[in-house]
Amino acid sequence: MKVSKMFFNTLREVPAEAEIPSHVFLLRAGMIRKEVSGFYSFLPLGMRALHKVENIVREEMDAAGAQEILTSAVQPAELWQESGRWYAYGPELWRTKDRNERDFVLGPTAEEVFTNVVRQNVTSWRQLPINIYQIQTKYRDEARPRFGLIRSREFLMKDAYSFDRDEDGLQVSYDNMYDAYSKVFTRCGLFFRPVEADTGAIGGSGSHEFCALSDTGEEEILYCENCDMAATAEKADFKDEVMPAEEELPMEEVLTPGTKTIEDVCNFLGVDQKKSIKAIMYEVYNEDKPEPEYVCCFIRGDRQLNETKLINALDVPEFAIKMADESKMGPATGCVAGFTGPVGLHDCKIIVDTELVNAKNMVAGACKADHHIKNVNYGRDYTADIVKDLKLLQEGDPCPCCGKPVKTARSIEVGQVFKLHTKYSEKMGLTYKDENQEEHHVVMGCYGIGVSRTVAAIVEQHHDENGIIWPMSVAPYHVIIDLVNVKDEVQVEVANKLYEDLLAAGIEVMLDDRDERPGVKFKDADLIGIPIRIVVGKRAGEGIVEYKLRREADKVEMSVEEAKAAAIELVHKEIRG
Ligand code: ATP
Ligand code: MG
Repeated sequence: MKVSKMFFNTLREVPAEAEIPSHVFLLRAGMIRKEVSGFYSFLPLGMRALHKVENIVREEMDAAGAQEILTSAVQPAELWQESGRWYAYGPELWRTKDRNERDFVLGPTAEEVFTNVVRQNVTSWRQLPINIYQIQTKYRDEARPRFGLIRSREFLMKDAYSFDRDEDGLQVSYDNMYDAYSKVFTRCGLFFRPVEADTGAIGGSGSHEFCALSDTGEEEILYCENCDMAATAEKADFKDEVMPAEEELPMEEVLTPGTKTIEDVCNFLGVDQKKSIKAIMYEVYNEDKPEPEYVCCFIRGDRQLNETKLINALDVPEFAIKMADESKMGPATGCVAGFTGPVGLHDCKIIVDTELVNAKNMVAGACKADHHIKNVNYGRDYTADIVKDLKLLQEGDPCPCCGKPVKTARSIEVGQVFKLHTKYSEKMGLTYKDENQEEHHVVMGCYGIGVSRTVAAIVEQHHDENGIIWPMSVAPYHVIIDLVNVKDEVQVEVANKLYEDLLAAGIEVMLDDRDERPGVKFKDADLIGIPIRIVVGKRAGEGIVEYKLRREADKVEMSVEEAKAAAIELVHKEIRG
């Protein structure tokens, strides 16, 4: 493509709304433009990068035996009501009505639709297994759309669904997708790590997230350098500390004026925070009750609460829970801000972390202003409605598998694979008949890749202060020829010939033939990040050009033929990532 004819405009200024490099550079390079919060248009260069990622995804899905279909982005509400997610998906679900007031959703994902498609077409074991996928626009009314393509309200997703006869079949399908994902992200040039993940609103159990490592990522992962434990912070298990055995002492109420935090009370009483109990209060909303139910969680004073584990323990949707308004919760349950403990609390669901069950002689709030109780013991002094691990694993905590201190890293979730088991097939009546005419529920898995988010994650990992440095496999073009002086006939001729020759060799080339200063062209070439730059300038008459890789500082002068050969060779070598 000749740049003089291209629909293309770069920005010198950093757009005010952009906080992270991928957002800044994709906007500045003229690859995307914002329409309104969370909605972007892809301009030609951005579209090419998006297509590259999309095609890698498609090739690897096809190679793994999945078959592409396309379902509508508009989905009937009835399917969501059948699965129970019309309520459970919450405010992220983009609900809409047609002119006859019939409810629809703009699909955020498509488990229901795919289950329905298979339900309409599959009856016998002979038709299974199946893996079908689509690459379709998705809609989520995110509470905080941000970071450009990373968290938008409209985005391109590849979603695949597997349908098997039994759990063994599901395991094969799952492993197959896991391998395909590793190939996709490797070919995209991403540094990534598959980690164990929570299953969230999609449901089911058994899941991995594919996390592109990046300091700007919203997702925290924990991993162990001693063993292969790696999990999202939401999911990571926690190994309870075994405390030395102690005789249970009698409870003792003590005056602790103004000690509203764990740190204050432990300093005041001169006890280790490990010997204290922390209370965290929530209200939980139920589908058909206007008044919230109160929940109080208790964990050891030196631990952090993992809200995802709490939500899973309560088995409620994420949006149905929020921190309690203690002024209302106090009169209803007896809790007192800063002094809440498990003794004396009433009319509220009590959830206790597993570690507290064997923790002896703890300090806890007395549910009375300025008072705590010493020597509180689980079983003797209080019990729980639910006992579950509620702890957030943090840097330096012992690895749940091998006990060595764990490390943390930030990352961007680019894909996730889930085992759904029979969650949807049971709710929606998707069954097949086996060899003996016996009916069974189909066993399902689902597998998503954020195609547009992946484009941004690639930029997040591949840039410098001047712009993007695309890996060859996803670059909008492989080569950019910068023609220094458009008024110099020799330069024009050499540049045009090189352009035609590279095109003929199947290389994707941009020829910057704009009547602009060379400095402008070089800056733009760096910003848009084309992997190979060939400058046709003063020495064109001698048949000499300058060859430079975007990722390297060195420029090398060589003959036009050498530059052409070097470019062709590099593109072929790197194109498959
Ligand atoms: P997140 O935790 O980041 O909100 P999710 O776990 O809800 O994402 P999935 O339901 O697993 O997302 O969707 C599959 C993939 O779609 C994700 O791995 C991610 O790459 C992409 N994705 C999800 N939400 C968005 C979004 N708002 N904008 C862009 N891509 C997204
Ligand atoms: Mg996910």
